Amino acid sequence: MSAPAESPTEDAVRAEVRAWLAANWSPDLGLLEWRNQLIDSGWGAPHWPKDWYGRELPLALVSVVEEEFQRIGAVGVPKGGIRTLAAATLLAHGSDMQKQKFLRRILTGEDIWCQLFSEPGSGSDLAGALTRAEFKGNHWVVNGQKVWTTSAHKAHWGLLLARTDSDVPKHKGLSYFILDMRQPGVAVQPLRQMNGHASFNQVFFTDAMVPPEMLVSEVGTGWAVATTTLMHERRGADALRAWGAGSTRPGRIYDEERAEIATVMEPYKWYPQRVGRVEWVIERAKAMGRDHDPVVRQEIAKLLTLSKSAEWTARRARAAQELGRPQGPEGSLGKLVSSHVARAAARVHTLIAGAEAMLAGADGPVDGKIAEIFVSTPSASIAGGTDEIQRNIIAERVLGMPKEPRTDTDRPFRDVPKNVVG
Ligand SMILES: Cc1cc2nc3c(=O)[nH]c(=O)nc-3n(C[C@H](O)[C@H](O)[C@H](O)COP(=O)(O)OP(=O)(O)OC[C@H]3O[C@@H](n4cnc5c(N)ncnc54)[C@H](O)[C@@H]3O)c2cc1C
Repeated sequence: MSAPAESPTEDAVRAEVRAWLAANWSPDLGLLEWRNQLIDSGWGAPHWPKDWYGRELPLALVSVVEEEFQRIGAVGVPKGGIRTLAAATLLAHGSDMQKQKFLRRILTGEDIWCQLFSEPGSGSDLAGALTRAEFKGNHWVVNGQKVWTTSAHKAHWGLLLARTDSDVPKHKGLSYFILDMRQPGVAVQPLRQMNGHASFNQVFFTDAMVPPEMLVSEVGTGWAVATTTLMHERRGADALRAWGAGSTRPGRIYDEERAEIATVMEPYKWYPQRVGRVEWVIERAKAMGRDHDPVVRQEIAKLLTLSKSAEWTARRARAAQELGRPQGPEGSLGKLVSSHVARAAARVHTLIAGAEAMLAGADGPVDGKIAEIFVSTPSASIAGGTDEIQRNIIAERVLGMPKEPRTDTDRPFRDVPKNVVG
């Protein structure tokens, strides 16, 4: 067996990417043309496998590559949206045909994806999904309903978790598919949220078709594949925020990237408010003349203490990940702590603004953004796994406490009582 290849040094990576950018980067190129060059070079996704557009760089060196891009304002591959979850899932479980068909277009940004997991009767209990996929003739036929599907109204492709067998325990009867969203059997209906945006949808399947080659991994392994998607979802929020900011530079490629971000990020435009806008509190207290109020000062101090310690814990988790260490308790705590911070920030913002915090739109403080924080932060406790589910995970996997008693995993799914007729 040959020895594993040694990882290049930071200096070597920096020199190599710098030389490549000097020879190739031009803001006058079209976005697609540039991204295709980038993908062929391996610098677009340097931590991906060499066979699939990457350079197998350790995560710790990816930030070196990003620094070099930022230094000269070079545009990278798109980092936001469900497509990054699709890529991570396909790299881990996809067939060569699926990787060939989808990975390049994920990196060029040509396709938009959505995640068809949650259903009216199964969100936290994702393994209780009732949407059925049956093999008939020469393809899979899908019937059922999904809900809370972010971006389904824009998506070309969906990551679908569906039941293929009800005669085995619930986790074993699921399969994972790539579903073409633009076909007659798929109906997408937007849902309006209490913050006024419509990022989510209900999606109805009536004999929607999936060709056999769009099954990911094997029949019955959908739960394991979905776990990969969810793991990346919980880690991915920061990249989404960073990419969503875009560049303010003038030039053709930047215009094209801004247009792309405006489309892809439209469902996410309230997400900065969802995490509470902690960075605004001191400025807001000064602007409202509340910065000498001892109660306000105390609440701001509590919020910043919580937020800073959450940030440092997240950095520790990232550093451990970059060093290839297994995920520790920090990973599980991060999601729960971020929803605490969001709620605490909403309280501090409303304390500072007083009754005006309830004014939405242009009449409200910061153009209605304070009201938007107030009605958007509850979603931080729900999306990607609720606070209660995170507490269960921490109790069972981190603290080693006894598992919740279960009555639904030791019998065929068909015999499990359900709260939806299926
Ligand atoms: C911003 C946002 C974006 C989303 N995007 C998507 C998407 O793109 N695709 C997608 O598939 N889904 C998406 N979702 C849905 C999300 O994954 C679900 O809302 C979430 O998993 C919770 O499921 P539920 O809403 O069915 O609540 P339920 O599971 O019905 O939970 C209701 C309440 O019961 C509690 N509860 C449930 N089980 C337990 C338990 N075992 N122990 C203790 N308490 C429990 C929950 O914590 C919650 O308080 C999104 C949600 C949000 C808020």
